[in-house]
Amino acid sequence: MEAPNALVVEDEPHIRELVTLHLTLEGFRVTGCADGEQALKMVAAQTFHVVILDLMLPKLDGMTVCHAIRRSPLNADTPILMLTARREESDKVLGLESGADDYLTKPFGVREFVARVRALLRRPRQSQTDGAGNVIVVGDLRIDPAKRQALIGENVIELTPHEFDVLSLLASRPGIVFSRQALLSQVWREDTHVTERSVDTLIKRLRQKIEPHGDSPARILTVWGTGYKFSDA
Ligand code: CA
Repeated sequence: MEAPNALVVEDEPHIRELVTLHLTLEGFRVTGCADGEQALKMVAAQTFHVVILDLMLPKLDGMTVCHAIRRSPLNADTPILMLTARREESDKVLGLESGADDYLTKPFGVREFVARVRALLRRPRQSQTDGAGNVIVVGDLRIDPAKRQALIGENVIELTPHEFDVLSLLASRPGIVFSRQALLSQVWREDTHVTERSVDTLIKRLRQKIEPHGDSPARILTVWGTGYKFSDA
């Protein structure tokens, strides 16, 4: 069997070398590059099993590269681990909007890095198109992506396709904040007729269906000035 391949996009040589070394030890064939333009050439030429992508890069930044990878024909579904120098929570939102699957804040330990890469390769892409049918369970809420069915306890909740997708996305990552823009791009994708207001309207309808107390939501929480998250309490 051919070894899986990884793309490492990092302009700091010692980090690129460290990451390359440990991916090699994990059995990857590694392609390294030091700027965003080079990275785009690589992802246009072949499919990778994983992409390690630094946020701050010369020529094209990691966010732009990440967007481009998600639109690329060969690597649209490739897991992307973003490396970032900043610790702020906003980075998570930023990264999710860009389509990255996970983050690592520099400086990071080698074991942590390897564990994250392994986890990325194990799990299906975090999206509503999760074909692996992994059931999401949060409290008494149960979401079955394969059947496209959501239940609270024993009761099936009637949801529109978009409501189902938004609920699945939020519930698949409790505690992670999704901006309205992130929800738009991941659920509505190419549909340019919807606006951020559409997200609010949909969340309102969704809450009416899944929140026992509509005026004080316990499942889908509003993060003021940012977006929404599923409760991780
Ligand atoms: Ca950098």
